[in-house]
Amino acid sequence: MAENLTPLRSQYLRIKQRYPDVIVFFRLGDFYETFDTDAEVTARELEIVLTAREMGKGMKVPMAGIPYHAVDNYLARLINRGHKVAICEQTTRPGDTKGLMEREVVRLVTPGTVVEPGLLDLKTNNYLAAVFPGDGQFGLAYVDISTGQFAATQMPADRIQSEIERLAPAEIIVPRGSGFTSSYPAPVSELDAYKFEVGAAADLLKDHFGVATLEGYGIGRWPPAISAAGAVVAYLKDTNKDASSGLSHLSAYSVADYMALDENTVNNLEIFKNATTGAVAGSLLGVLDATRTPMGARLLRRWLGQPLLDSKQIVQRHQIVEAILSNNAAREEISRWLKPVADIERLANRIRNFAALPRELIALKRSLEAVPELARALHGHALEGLKCELRENPEIIALIEKSIEPEPASAPGEGGVIREGFSADLDRIKGLTTNTKSYIAKLETEERAATGIKNLKVGYNQVFGYYLEVSQANLAQVPDRFIRKQTLANAERYVTPELKEYEAQILSSKERLAEIETSLYRQVLGQIGQSAEAILALADAVARLDVFAAFAASAAANSYVKPEVKDIGPLVIAAGRHPVVELCVGPGNFISNDLALDSSDSQLIILTGPNMAGKSTYLKQTAIIVLMAQVGSFVPAARAEIGICDRIFTRIGAREDLASGQSTFMVEMVETAAILSSATSRSLLILDEIGRGTSTYDGLAIARAVVEYIHDRIGARTLFATHYHELVELAEKLPRVRNFNVAVAEDRGNVVFLHRIQTGGVDRSYGIHVAKLAGLPKSIINRANRILLELETAGITSPPGKVTRIEETPQLSFLGRPPKVVDEIKKLDPDTLTPREALDRLYEIKRLA
Ligand code: ADP
Repeated sequence: MAENLTPLRSQYLRIKQRYPDVIVFFRLGDFYETFDTDAEVTARELEIVLTAREMGKGMKVPMAGIPYHAVDNYLARLINRGHKVAICEQTTRPGDTKGLMEREVVRLVTPGTVVEPGLLDLKTNNYLAAVFPGDGQFGLAYVDISTGQFAATQMPADRIQSEIERLAPAEIIVPRGSGFTSSYPAPVSELDAYKFEVGAAADLLKDHFGVATLEGYGIGRWPPAISAAGAVVAYLKDTNKDASSGLSHLSAYSVADYMALDENTVNNLEIFKNATTGAVAGSLLGVLDATRTPMGARLLRRWLGQPLLDSKQIVQRHQIVEAILSNNAAREEISRWLKPVADIERLANRIRNFAALPRELIALKRSLEAVPELARALHGHALEGLKCELRENPEIIALIEKSIEPEPASAPGEGGVIREGFSADLDRIKGLTTNTKSYIAKLETEERAATGIKNLKVGYNQVFGYYLEVSQANLAQVPDRFIRKQTLANAERYVTPELKEYEAQILSSKERLAEIETSLYRQVLGQIGQSAEAILALADAVARLDVFAAFAASAAANSYVKPEVKDIGPLVIAAGRHPVVELCVGPGNFISNDLALDSSDSQLIILTGPNMAGKSTYLKQTAIIVLMAQVGSFVPAARAEIGICDRIFTRIGAREDLASGQSTFMVEMVETAAILSSATSRSLLILDEIGRGTSTYDGLAIARAVVEYIHDRIGARTLFATHYHELVELAEKLPRVRNFNVAVAEDRGNVVFLHRIQTGGVDRSYGIHVAKLAGLPKSIINRANRILLELETAGITSPPGKVTRIEETPQLSFLGRPPKVVDEIKKLDPDTLTPREALDRLYEIKRLA
């Protein structure tokens, strides 16, 4: 069989064999071709034509190809759909070998290792994460090869999922056979387990960084972190060598420095995206993102995912925001000079990998020129640190100024990139190629004079190159040194040795021009690349300034205030608002509310009130204000005192799962259990409608037991919204429980939501009013009102104003059903009872009545 294959087919199969699970893009001239099942998948995913190619005697194989210059776009679509692609290039230059060109895979493109700007989102990091499940501790390392950010840590097993969710990696690598699964839906790549082996990983890292010990990186004593970081480098070396060489630093961090945010909380509080639309607009990020640069936008995202726990660091951030906020002129200057700053963080890495385009160098220059202006805008003690970090880089500016055309061509090679005066060699050759026109004109005049042929012309065509054309009438005057090349209907074309030589010179000088300009351009990149670290440090400083300026801008736009933050202390918010809802309901329409939560006094607030009154909004705004404060932002309130929260837990029923069945209740209970097992006295708990997913009795019993547990055992500051009015009496029994409700007014039989939180519990539900608001037919509303009245007069619901004690008569407290007593009596068979049993039953029944 094999001898029937063409050499090309054999070569392809040899390469493909090494990449069985990957689509191989096989370079053939101006196309990347895919074959066999790869071709079928590619054609289907990219909606391109599936053809066939003869690759052996009588053997046609499926083939689908894409033009090489459009590869980015097609790659993006395949990668986004979870495929991996091996790029197989021709490694011999055209013309260097006669037979089959050599080919090899130069890069494996996976979701976590893309670098093409077209494949990356400007405002988010593209992380490749490695997880190593160790004994007790999990190792985690992640890298964004487009920015060079590389970090590692280790943590207890119960933190790993939330940390992965925070990173939202594009790809996760795990040891083969480890069985690790992530709750975050990223594609998982398995890597041979030995690549995670701590000895091998440490050696690889030491070798990569050229150091003798890893102590300097802070992970020397964290074997699981070393395993994960080593695996990242090993994976990059296999997939994208250029990118791995760009990793110059590894930073260790501790998850203990940041508040862990689980996925539920992130989603419930709508930190990064609106729950209904899935868009950034309508989320906290949407309100705060006044950043002007891509690295600022990425850093803001990171900060929102990592609220701080140390009051000193938090206060420092607030002071910087305050300093910027207090100076309007400075704010304008900062925003004006941040605008021209390009994505110099990703650019630094593209320069280091010789992948930056000439236009991008001009963007770098413009960015660097803005830096001194930014520094000039910063005044005051709090901004000194940032000011110092905004270092100028005049040498790079000067180098780009001198070497690159102000409006360069898209790529070097045709003389449009390197500026005149930078290289004498290049200028000379450019002279040769660009002076063709005048040379031809000069030659024409000279030859006309020499031969006396007035209409002699010098021309050019693809086949013969340069020629001299003489019309039929003047042929007699053609000298001997003209060599005839072509005969036309009424003219003859000739060449001369000089013309041939000139032509050769031009061709070779074009080639030389391409060579020299490309190599000069690489030299410039190499030279700037040596300052890549400085550019990255600058990118970091600019990113922070950008985020601080964004905090100041949103504080100014929305009247936020500086919170007072203490390591230990109560949560006191005066006139707090929900930063997103207040913008939705329009200026002046949001009702602000106060809050005081203190683990030693008013620890647990039970909030009652009808649906749509504003309970969830109040709960969420409290959590969001705490999060904003601990991230370093100002907060939507008149005043706020924040005793740091070590974690924010939220259990909020999604609207659609409120009424549904058992499995939803199971989810609710699992989430509640997780919260109760992790919360501490320093946590903030936001619990909305706990127990709602089950029957009334069960639900009430569970809700009450949960409140007691939090009060007696955990001591966490808690907001507990419930529709069980019966819970309000807990305040009488438990010293640190307080009742609040959302005020509603009745206006001629209609409910008006005042959205105002007030002390005390409510004693009735407004379900029918809400049903009316929702547009239920009038006849149903009237009928429901009648039924309610009947039930109330029969004593079947709690009469307004009277709250029945739960511990005495759990059922009667809300359904006081006399038929239950009747049921019990009916069940009795007096003939079988002893007098003693009969008396016991009688007591039981009396308790029910
Ligand atoms: P509940 O949780 O009590 O059912 P929500 O908190 O979901 O009610 O609030 C319902 C709607 O009422 C919100 O979407 C918002 O439009 C409005 N709302 C809530 N709180 C306020 C407030 N403090 N000021 C103005 N409007 C509010």
